[in-house]
Amino acid sequence: MADPTESCVMTMTVTTTPASDLALTNLAYCSPSDLRCFAVPGTPDLFLANVGESISDGSIALNSIQRRHARVSAGDIVSVTRFIPPESFDLTVLTVDLEFVKKGTKNEQIDATLLSTQLKKKFTNQVLTVGQRVTFEYHGTNYIFTVNRAVIVADDENQTNCIERGMICKDTYFVFEASNASGIKIINQRESVTSKIFKEKEFNLQSLGIGGLGAEFVAIFRRAFTSRILPRDVVNRIGAKHVKGMLLFGPPGTGKTLMARQIGKMLNGKEPKIVNGPEVLSKFVGETEKNVRDLFADAENDQRTLGDASELHIIIFDEIDAICKSRGSTRDGTGVHDGIVNQLLTKIDGVEALNNVLLIGMTNRKDMLDEALLRPGRLEVHIEISLPDEVGRLQILQIHTKKMKDNSFLSPDVNLQELAARTKNYSGAELEGVVKSATSYAFNRQLSMEDLTKPVDEENIKITMDDFLQALLE
Ligand code: ADP
Repeated sequence: MADPTESCVMTMTVTTTPASDLALTNLAYCSPSDLRCFAVPGTPDLFLANVGESISDGSIALNSIQRRHARVSAGDIVSVTRFIPPESFDLTVLTVDLEFVKKGTKNEQIDATLLSTQLKKKFTNQVLTVGQRVTFEYHGTNYIFTVNRAVIVADDENQTNCIERGMICKDTYFVFEASNASGIKIINQRESVTSKIFKEKEFNLQSLGIGGLGAEFVAIFRRAFTSRILPRDVVNRIGAKHVKGMLLFGPPGTGKTLMARQIGKMLNGKEPKIVNGPEVLSKFVGETEKNVRDLFADAENDQRTLGDASELHIIIFDEIDAICKSRGSTRDGTGVHDGIVNQLLTKIDGVEALNNVLLIGMTNRKDMLDEALLRPGRLEVHIEISLPDEVGRLQILQIHTKKMKDNSFLSPDVNLQELAARTKNYSGAELEGVVKSATSYAFNRQLSMEDLTKPVDEENIKITMDDFLQALLE
């Protein structure tokens, strides 16, 4: 609620202003420059938008919608109290629901990045209240958004607080939502998502369930995504070209899929398309080539219909070596693979024009891949994901034991540091396996072999250091 303090109750005369002046229904122009926001006791809150220069002292200017909203008329005397916004408005997340002003308008798409910039330009330093409806114009069409949620993110970003109202500032992070029924398609939520990622300075990967790959993650991010996040005109002026493809290579089970998936989610807010190399293969040659073509179909379609406004399509190609073996390397000499590799190369080269695809290939066998696939303009950035070092192993063990620790199933004698030291050359997947195996030893202790139906004494399940040591012997 507003923070009305007796000391700053003021009396003001309501004056009028054209409806077009203020799009926000509970904002008002006001004259005294020292006051920023106002609540009118007994009526829906009204907030000061800008200090209107033409408004005389002691007046509050409301448009017709606002006067109705506040149930006042021009010439009325109203008392207004100061509303002191919470201090930490640094990063306010506003989740807003979009809809058309006119029902029946269809198939419009809204570029979240553009709209966010536009709204900030127009409404900076203005206050939005949850539930408030705001009209705005975007590319000649009128829309309304309703503020569903306002959240303040604390400086250390570990704490978020839902608030009743937030002030729009340069760091405000808009989350646009639109129901399917509205027919509005929201694209490019990227800028907002990444500004949040960038705020997470240290790339807190552990909270995302990834241990020990900080440097690799930052490298992938820098090479593949920064050019896509910068405003388009800056990228054009610099003449930068987006990276279209990258290859993550290294031993199995080191977190390549985990990371590619997470990056995809961070950028688009949804699961990226993951394709399994061997699954694309069909015993019918033509079928496999078609499968490869189909992978790119959505992206091509979007590019055709939406042009530059198309969202980024991330295609993750697991075990890419299965279909991109060096041409001529297949023993059967049928050249079957050659056709597939050529097909994929053609598609990737076509992506140059597309600009809306990022292909992430993954392999345990970089040496097997057709050289042509790795050339500039194709899978040009190569990032090695190696076995984790001791710090990485500790983080991975912490990730995979977090739940049992939080729920008091991990015995205090378990020394993860020591386990990390003893597990040289273990991959992330193998460490996960050790945790699973240790857990099974603990479960086993609770089971009565004579009577498997006997209820397990949950309280007594404790995974001990011994369980882990036994698991390591397996
Ligand atoms: P890759 O793609 O390199 O073969 P995955 O990403 O599929 O490996 O890893 C398999 C599983 O092993 C993951 O789902 C995860 O549970 C675990 N894992 C592997 N690497 C890590 C890591 N760095 N941090 C946390 N868990 C990991």
